[in-house]
Amino acid sequence: MNTITPINLQERDKAVNWHPYTQMKTADNIIPIVKGKGLYLYDTEGKQYMDVVSSWWVTLHGHSHPYIAQRIFEQLNTLEQVIFAGFTHEPATQLSENLLKLLPHNQNKVFYSDNGSTAVEVALKMCIQYAHNQGKEKTKILAFKNAYHGDTFGAMSVSGKSYWTKPFESRLFEVIFIDTPNAENLESLQLQINEMTDEVACFIYEPLVQGAAGMLMYKAEDLNNLMTFCRQQGILMIQDEVFTGFGRTGKLFAAHYLTEQPDIMCFSKGLTGGTMPMGVTTCSKEIYEAFWSDDKHKTLFHGHSFTANPLACVAALASMELLLKKDTQMNIKRISQQHSEFLKALSQHPQVENPRQIGTILAFDFKTGHGTSYFNEIGKKLYNEFLERGIIMRPLGNVLYLVPPYCISSEELDIVYQNILEILDQFKN
Ligand SMILES: *Cc1c(COP(=O)(O)O)cnc(C)c1O
Repeated sequence: MNTITPINLQERDKAVNWHPYTQMKTADNIIPIVKGKGLYLYDTEGKQYMDVVSSWWVTLHGHSHPYIAQRIFEQLNTLEQVIFAGFTHEPATQLSENLLKLLPHNQNKVFYSDNGSTAVEVALKMCIQYAHNQGKEKTKILAFKNAYHGDTFGAMSVSGKSYWTKPFESRLFEVIFIDTPNAENLESLQLQINEMTDEVACFIYEPLVQGAAGMLMYKAEDLNNLMTFCRQQGILMIQDEVFTGFGRTGKLFAAHYLTEQPDIMCFSKGLTGGTMPMGVTTCSKEIYEAFWSDDKHKTLFHGHSFTANPLACVAALASMELLLKKDTQMNIKRISQQHSEFLKALSQHPQVENPRQIGTILAFDFKTGHGTSYFNEIGKKLYNEFLERGIIMRPLGNVLYLVPPYCISSEELDIVYQNILEILDQFKN
């Protein structure tokens, strides 16, 4: 007789799955989730978790939103996918029209791909080929220290060097890393850039917040000054709004804090409200026109199987509709205000360093007198303690942060704040 050993989802997972950014040997607490609703995720035991990191910064309106689900379902029964070379469809066209209306006025064309990294790859290829199509080869690319633009090779190249990129370092292309701008260093940045202007293909940056580096924030005014200089020098600018887009910073886009306009913009994460994978690269007319030619060689030879997938497009249309609603805009304001109140309490705490906030993003450094390995240790402990209490807060090193979906209520936010303070007290040095 066969003995059938019933094994649970966790064990089956371990047998077949390899998880992202996870050392599988020491990953002891991978949680099997069966359902998501609004702010909450539910595991196989029925335990609920507040998803205050929006499932890696993607969820905007809460999990399993009925309106987005309905729109995807209807589209699924009408047209689920069609090749986007030689064909088009209503959802993609409508989405491009709607998106361009919200972006800086110089944004003129929309190129679709699958995720944030591919949106960045497309942007980089546009800039390099922009020069090439005009008979120039520009070898240098500018990016900020501590940048994060994704995990594919091009995106890794323009990301700050870390132990994430270490094994691949010799295969990454040349990038000049500069400091993020502040009131003091603008002149020295200008001098540095001035030295190589003619060789620079583009400058890529995360506006206002460097997310993966630990929610590092810098001023719109300083970025704007740097952008003005790049514009004068004729350096193309790629604004990576993969994280900051769709309301996270309190405005629809970080671009709305700036008067200067980038040449190219990248979006993903919140684009579909966190329901379907999709990336978007938008560009100015000037970029587009450098590819517009009778010469076949000037074509942008790039495309993915699922370019402008209709299901992802309607998910984005539905999510943007929800985002623009008065109620959602009020929620974003409310979360921002509540965050800034809490920031005052936080800054009094002896364990807290460098508390910071922009819009719905709140972050601080957990202070310890110990070295970095201790940080990792404490990070894991903090993560587990929050999980225990039914809150998903995944620290970045020693940085704790909140990026909640906009459906979180003020009562729920207060519960999260209260837990943060309790846990900080518990881990006092
Ligand atoms: C997450 C992120 C990316 C990469 O997006 P993926 O969808 O994970 O490939 C790129 N840029 C920024 C600013 C990001 O935060």
